[in-house]
Amino acid sequence: MLLGKSSKAPLGGGFAADGAARTCRRLVSATAEVSALTVKNLEVVYDNVILVLRGVSLEVPRGKIIALLGANGAGKTTLLRAITGLLVVHEGEISRGEVTMDGESIHRLTPPSIVRRGITQVFEGRRIFAELTVTENLRVGGYRNPGQLSDNLERVYSLFPVLKDRRGSVAGYLSGGEQQMLAMGRALMSNPRYLLLDEPSLGLAPQLVQQIRELILEINRQGTSVLLVEQNARMALEISEHGYIMETGRIVMDKASSELREDDDIKEFYLGLHQGDERKSFREVKHYKRRKRWLS
Ligand code: ATP
Repeated sequence: MLLGKSSKAPLGGGFAADGAARTCRRLVSATAEVSALTVKNLEVVYDNVILVLRGVSLEVPRGKIIALLGANGAGKTTLLRAITGLLVVHEGEISRGEVTMDGESIHRLTPPSIVRRGITQVFEGRRIFAELTVTENLRVGGYRNPGQLSDNLERVYSLFPVLKDRRGSVAGYLSGGEQQMLAMGRALMSNPRYLLLDEPSLGLAPQLVQQIRELILEINRQGTSVLLVEQNARMALEISEHGYIMETGRIVMDKASSELREDDDIKEFYLGLHQGDERKSFREVKHYKRRKRWLS
């Protein structure tokens, strides 16, 4: 899935030699190539000096779930900020490269116009409005589409029935899992084509992680493409089609998720599986990985 290698949509094989079919094939593959959120050779600096992303390229084709994995500080959140235009809030800027959505360059747009074009981010740590009610939080998410407010509310409430039950409650009193659902529901209120999820399972009990996993799949089934940043590599690689591994500001590996699940390094460092009898915990693996990086 590296850039320039977008998959070609298959057409009826029996007509392969036919001129009309060839023209059609060209049109279909051109469409396949532009129907994606694409990051090309991106470099990002903070405070004019700290180079954090060093030539990152990544693609989220329409309709897919794509996973982005990496240790703490690798630059995952920075990449999401670069896509949604939020670097400016953090004294960061894109010093090289480009972000395009469905063929259109978006990296010079403001955050509101990026949301309007169809990209929304759910932040790590949820960042809901704790003093507002559930419904008020959702209405904030939908303020750009007042005409679709009630339809979007209905869609969010059917995806997250617990939010409907608690619609009058103050958001700060919701459980961690409910707050994560509220953050995702608020993002869906703008009807995004691309949803960027930053660590949606962070701090949640295993049962809730399962619930979040099913919700991501359902959101995707309903037509939203997802870029999923996760520490829970197992969950991310189970539900995604393709995965990228980021380390110190670079993509160091990029493969089908099914292949990543079988890769020995990924098993050891991200899935917590060791070749021998001993099974490492994720914390141990991360610690080992950090030591390994310092020693290298
Ligand atoms: P984590 O999972 O810990 O959030 P991450 O992969 O999302 O990690 P980033 O948060 O993007 O990584 O951070 C990448 C690097 O950029 C880190 O070294 C971090 O200290 C640095 N960084 C992040 N935000 C800023 C900022 N506003 N100013 C300066 N440096 C920053």
